Amino acid sequence: MPSRISEVLSGAAAIAKGMGTTFKEMLNPTLTDLYPDAPPVLQERYRGLHVLQRDENGLEKCVACFLCSAACPTNCIYIVAADNTAQERISGGERYAKIYNIDYSRCIFCGYCVEACPTDAITHGHGFEMASYDTSTLVYRKEKLLAPLPAGVTGRFRLEEPVLAESGH
Ligand code: SF4
Ligand code: SF4
Repeated sequence: MPSRISEVLSGAAAIAKGMGTTFKEMLNPTLTDLYPDAPPVLQERYRGLHVLQRDENGLEKCVACFLCSAACPTNCIYIVAADNTAQERISGGERYAKIYNIDYSRCIFCGYCVEACPTDAITHGHGFEMASYDTSTLVYRKEKLLAPLPAGVTGRFRLEEPVLAESGH
């Protein structure tokens, strides 16, 4: 019998505690996002659509090492690498991503790709408006993922073809 009484008392205490939280929240101001009339307030750590970053010279930070695609649990990153040349430089490394696609119909926004990247080339942005009835539109290409160029830089360094010195013979 004493255990039955203590069960009832602990149940009543739990209900009182729960109702106390409810009444406390009722007195707090209501916080409502007015999206889509006003943009939602996202936390800094929010994992939204990815951004492929550039360095201060506008060169792409991605050096096509494939570590992000290797870390991706849903296999949704597709990369084709190409070499930078003496005449044309796209990234700061030896290679750059000629093609960099993310299939957002498969991405689970886990952030593993961001963790794996050795050059901080891929980050999560705050973009989230990507709903579509056509999954083919959910494959985002590099051109859509790239960060904008810093003001006043071209981001792609092209040298003119080297002029060969006259041999004189
Ligand atoms: S966030 Fe996760 S699922 Fe999405 S591309 Fe990166 S590693 Fe893949
Ligand atoms: S985004 Fe980072 S991890 Fe992925 S290929 Fe480029 S440099 Fe490598």
